[in-house]
Amino acid sequence: MMAQPKASHFIDGVYVDDTAGAVIEVIYPATGAVIARLHEATAAVIEQALASAARAQAAWAATRPVERARILRRAADLIRLRNPELARLETLDTGKPIQETLVADWPSGADALEYFAGLAPSVGGETIPLGRDFAYTIREALGVCVGIGAWNYPSQIACWKSAPALALGNAMVFKPSEVTPLGALKLAEIFIEAGLPAGLFNVVQGRGAVGSTLVSDARVAKVSLTGSVSTGRKVYALAAQGVRHVTMELGGKSPILVFDDASVEDAVGAAMLGNFYSAGQVCSNGTRVFVQKGIKAKFLKRLAERTAAIRLGDPLDEATQMGPLVSGAQLAKVLGYIETAKAEGATLICGGGQAGVEGAFVLPTVFADVTDAMTIAREEVFGPVMAVLDFDSEDEAVARANATEFGLAAGVFTADITRAHRVIGALQAGTCWINAYNLTPVEMPFGGSKLSGVGRENGHAAVEHYSQLKSVYVGMGPVDAPY
Ligand code: NAD
Repeated sequence: MMAQPKASHFIDGVYVDDTAGAVIEVIYPATGAVIARLHEATAAVIEQALASAARAQAAWAATRPVERARILRRAADLIRLRNPELARLETLDTGKPIQETLVADWPSGADALEYFAGLAPSVGGETIPLGRDFAYTIREALGVCVGIGAWNYPSQIACWKSAPALALGNAMVFKPSEVTPLGALKLAEIFIEAGLPAGLFNVVQGRGAVGSTLVSDARVAKVSLTGSVSTGRKVYALAAQGVRHVTMELGGKSPILVFDDASVEDAVGAAMLGNFYSAGQVCSNGTRVFVQKGIKAKFLKRLAERTAAIRLGDPLDEATQMGPLVSGAQLAKVLGYIETAKAEGATLICGGGQAGVEGAFVLPTVFADVTDAMTIAREEVFGPVMAVLDFDSEDEAVARANATEFGLAAGVFTADITRAHRVIGALQAGTCWINAYNLTPVEMPFGGSKLSGVGRENGHAAVEHYSQLKSVYVGMGPVDAPY
């Protein structure tokens, strides 16, 4: 076992196991090798995790924010110090190339810890003058939060959720995706080493049922999910029964609009980043690339040239630019979408199938002449498959870009600044880029509209989602009662 952790769960400051839980095999998708064997959380393990979080939270909320911040900053430092070994584990867990995991996954998690550590001590309420009387507000922690992660950025997701939660005085029970359970355990270890009191960040493993047990528990004040729309619907509905706070980071089918006057090189580069990074398994990917007819030929030519040069291979080799998909199941799903696109009449520009015989590798694939009705223009593929659609006018492109139930992200490429802002203003999406794509610095709120989600992660906006207001009216004189 290349990556067997000490035990399956991390609760109240220590590793915990209960072999009565169903087995979860962790598979390195580049070779199919089993690299760890864990157990799902049993009812007893879930109870232990929630009870310990509830126990630890009150004292943590009463801790000075600067002290909380110091611990989170220390955790960020430990992550940066150990980034090479953490990146290697992330690569084994996900199959993503180490070239990416060294710079994108844990480093962006460390950024979140630093950012919310910096922000927390200055979060306060306001005083509201009311003549003789006055009111004030207190921004308080919510309590025990549940975080549920997807498999595409497992450690980043664990950090993006726990950083604001802990900075603002909450405890978190985190359930990673059963496909990528390893990184969150390392984060739990690092928090303890950084001085976080036991119980404030507990990790329990399991599939959907473990997630729903957590979401339904009366001690839970908030649920933050990163996952698909169908899971989001279920988790949102379950959380509603307890009127819990929610953040839903769900799927997308985001548009990139490339106008005739755009830099072809930049637009091609961004479209590639927004379709091929992490082998296309990024929620905010711009998987519908609308290209204005005047530059379609030039765009496709450069896209094909640059895509053909992408290096697939051993994810642990720093020269490798694209690894396998996360699992055999994801491979089958993506190959199915490629075959459907061919059958529905899209023009295959490059790629179009599995790469090699071993592992879940798919060739970076580009389809042109895609129409709005085709399946690859409507459904989230979550693999390295780009759909290029062409358009004539701005109004037409905006209307077609918006004709989706999703609203996670959008991008526009143009040299005309007025048009750039006008188009962004008209696009229905929570996270947008102008002449850039898929950059998600922690300082910028991130999240979706429409079916892509509610709430925001990162930025000052996240404070709203991990705290609540208490309003206090202060009477300064005699009570004026009519009785
Ligand atoms: P998924 O919905 O299958 O699973 C997400 C998590 O939810 C997993 O931990 C899973 O065990 C858990 N889960 C499943 N059913 C549950 C239930 N009934 N109750 C509670 N928890 C349950 O998603 P995935 O396949 O792991 O990830 C891919 C999806 O995530 C894509 O749709 C992608 O767009 C989305 N995603 C969104 C963002 C974002 O920030 N918007 C980021 C990454 C991924």
